Amino acid sequence: MNHDDLNHWSKRAADWTRAYYAGLRDRPVRARTTPGETAAKLPATAPDQAEPMETIFADFEAIVPDAMTHWQHPRFFAYFPANAAPASILAEQLTAALAAQAMLWQTAPAATEIEEVMVGWLRDALGLGSHFTGTIHDSATTATLSAILTMRERALDWRGNEQGLAGLPALRIYASDQTHSSIDKSARIAGIGQANLVKIPTDASLSMTPEALDAAIRQDRQDGLLPAGVILSVGGTSVGGTDRVADLIRVARAHELYTHVDAAWAGSAMICPEFRPLWDGVDGADSIVFNPHKWLGANFDCAVQFLADPAPQVRTLGLRPDYLQTPGQSEITNFNEWTVPLGRRFRALKLWFLIRAYGLDGLRQRIRDHVAWSEELCAEIARLPGFEITTQPMLSLFSFRYRDDAETEALLARINDDGRIYLTQTRHRDQFVIRVQVGQFDCTREDVLCVLDVLRDLTRA
Ligand code: PLP
Repeated sequence: MNHDDLNHWSKRAADWTRAYYAGLRDRPVRARTTPGETAAKLPATAPDQAEPMETIFADFEAIVPDAMTHWQHPRFFAYFPANAAPASILAEQLTAALAAQAMLWQTAPAATEIEEVMVGWLRDALGLGSHFTGTIHDSATTATLSAILTMRERALDWRGNEQGLAGLPALRIYASDQTHSSIDKSARIAGIGQANLVKIPTDASLSMTPEALDAAIRQDRQDGLLPAGVILSVGGTSVGGTDRVADLIRVARAHELYTHVDAAWAGSAMICPEFRPLWDGVDGADSIVFNPHKWLGANFDCAVQFLADPAPQVRTLGLRPDYLQTPGQSEITNFNEWTVPLGRRFRALKLWFLIRAYGLDGLRQRIRDHVAWSEELCAEIARLPGFEITTQPMLSLFSFRYRDDAETEALLARINDDGRIYLTQTRHRDQFVIRVQVGQFDCTREDVLCVLDVLRDLTRA
């Protein structure tokens, strides 16, 4: 395959993309396949001889789409969304064509500078203070890992990186019992240890209380442990658990602890000023992450981390060996020094395309619609016999159950076998509940109300 062939097949891929999106509503949302089925269709060993692209493309069409769960299906209400607006898909095509490695300013000047500008655009769009700068990671997990490593090094006066953690005091990180498992994973990888990630129980509003956080920090100090930082949740994955950011940052600050806000999903909604009270006080945070690849419309992967002061993170993660120096340019931004991997994709391009192609107003309207339709759906489900709303909408996420745990679980299986919609479960306050989030880029009010039809149809008998 050469570049002329690429031109031909790119057009073919564009046609396929158009037809795929046009036909999405006719497909079951969740993949109808069993483990091992796809692998069994592939030869066990790689071909020695080149194969014609016709055969490769035909195999793609025959094997892949039917064995995929369709994340861009307008009736995907599971997990959180991973949107891919058409303008963002186009930018990803161009990113693949440029195929640049944006580790240093010098290796990708436009990528670095567009990244700086996009972080500024998004900071302002989310209503954050002008003191924030930031960077783009692959995932919220990596951003949180970066923040936890920074907490660790800051608390240890940067001794951990130099000498390892052996012999140093045990560090403590605090988070609510509603935080995402990426915080657990990051604490493990950072050498903090799961046992030193202190999960503070939440109150009825699903926030840690300042009193409980303060008491835990004081107790740890008394016990000779070393508090390092606090992670706050805004829009937890399970049912949207959200900490009272201002109150808790006040406690963290009083103890001189570093703070990181995980708003991976809910952050996108902050482009709408009316939702910003949900993270009131966020300007006091040291670090904030949100994923434009979830609700905003940027293709996976794209996680923006805002930093009040990048210096501690750069001091934690940055290395500049001889072979990565840019002679005569010691003051330029080399984003690999802000992030865990050295190699970096040009992720800012899709943000640039996305924000310009829809405008902030267009993106705001989608999020407002999703929230309104979710509230409408929740109110309707509450009226169905046997159904109980277990958590009210936090933005566009709510949960419900049907009669008891066993019936709810059985109903979820029937819903997802039916295929018209896709929902997933969580446990909340010791109950099995079904989550609904509305956030797919192309979904309509009719798509959302289809959930009601499915629930009625499957419980009528
Ligand atoms: N934080 C929250 C609240 C999430 O919902 C998720 C993923 O759903 C994550 C973090 C992890 O995101 P990522 O897949 O970008 O690592």
